[in-house]
Amino acid sequence: MPAGVTSQTRLVAGQTVRIMTGAPMPEGAEAVVPVEQSDGGVHEVQLRAPAPAGQHVRRAGADVRTGDVVLRAGAVLGPAQLALLAAVGRSRVRVHARPRVVGLSTGSGLVEPGRLPGFGQVVDSNGMMVTAAVIDAGASPHRLGLVADDPAVFLQTLTDALARADLVVTPGGVSAGAYDTVKEVLSTLGTVWFGKVAMQPGMPQGFGTVGPAATPIFTLPGNPVSAFVSFEMFVRPVIRRLAGHREPHRRRETGVALQSWTAPAGKVQLARAELVARSDGRPGVRLSGGQGSHQLGSLALADALVVVPADVTAVAEGDEVQVLVLDRWRR
Ligand code: AMP
Ligand code: MG
Repeated sequence: MPAGVTSQTRLVAGQTVRIMTGAPMPEGAEAVVPVEQSDGGVHEVQLRAPAPAGQHVRRAGADVRTGDVVLRAGAVLGPAQLALLAAVGRSRVRVHARPRVVGLSTGSGLVEPGRLPGFGQVVDSNGMMVTAAVIDAGASPHRLGLVADDPAVFLQTLTDALARADLVVTPGGVSAGAYDTVKEVLSTLGTVWFGKVAMQPGMPQGFGTVGPAATPIFTLPGNPVSAFVSFEMFVRPVIRRLAGHREPHRRRETGVALQSWTAPAGKVQLARAELVARSDGRPGVRLSGGQGSHQLGSLALADALVVVPADVTAVAEGDEVQVLVLDRWRR
C-alpha cells in the first residue's frame, strides 16, 4: 500500500499488508509494525516484536479536532501558523493589511549613507532607522529621498507620498529654529499639533493628519537617538495597533541598577542600557554608553530602554528600575 491509495482494503485476522508511511490504514487493521522488526517476508511474514493496537497509527483528530479554535484573531501568521492553516484546509483567512509607512528625512546638508559627508554635512542615519523600525514593527516601509529645508519641495514631496501611505513619519525639522521646515509648513495647515513632551531624549514632537484622507503623520525630532526613542514611544505602538497586534507595547521588566546615574527633573528619562543576567531573575541594568541624543554607538549596544520617572533625578546602584526590552536587538 503506497501513500496516495484511494481505494479501501480490508484485512481479516491473521493477515498483514505491507504499508508505506502516509498510506491509509486498511479496514480491520489495528497497528503498524516497522519493516525492520519483521523478516521482510512477502507471502508470509514473521513479526519479531509485539504490535500493540494503535502503534504507529496517526488518528484523525489527534493533532487538532473539529471545532477547535486553532488560531485566535490577532495571531501573527508565521511559517508554523500558515502550515497549520493549510493543514486544516484554509487557503484563505482574513488578515490585517500591513500598514504602509512612508519615511521622509528632512534637512539641508543630509547625505545618503555611503557618501562621504563634506564640511557641514551629516549622513542620513534616520532614514535607515525608520525603514528598519517600520519593518520590525510589522509594516511595509517606503523610504523617500532626502528633502532639503525648502518648504515648497517638502510640501510637494509629502503630497505626492500620501497616495501610498497609511502613515507618514518625518524625522527632523521640528525644533524651535529657523529653517525647521516640517514645523514651518505643517503649522500653517492647522491639522498638526507641535509641542514638547516631558521626556529625554525626544522632547520636540508633532502629530496630526495631512491630505484629503487625513493621513496620520508623526514628525519626530532629528537627532538620531531622539528619533529612535520617539519612534519607540509613539509610532511603533500605533503601527502595531494598525497591523492588528493585540499587544502594541514592548515587554516591560523590573531590573536592578548596576550603577548610579542622574536623570533630568520633570522629564521621563529613557536611558539606553545593557541587561545582564542575575541569579534572582531580575536583570542587571548597566548604561550602554553616553546618553547624548546624537550618540548612536550606545543605542546600538542597548538591549533595553530604562524608564526613569519624571520625579526621579538620580538612580542609585541597587535601585529597582523599569525597562522596556528591545527584543529584536538582543544579542
Ligand atoms: P533638526 O531636528 O532637523 O533640527 O535636527 C537636529 C539634529 O539632528 C541636527 O544636529 C541634525 O544634524 C541631526 N539630524 C537631522 N536629521 C538627521 C538625519 N536624517 N540623520 C542624522 N542626523 C540628523
Ligand atoms: Mg534644525
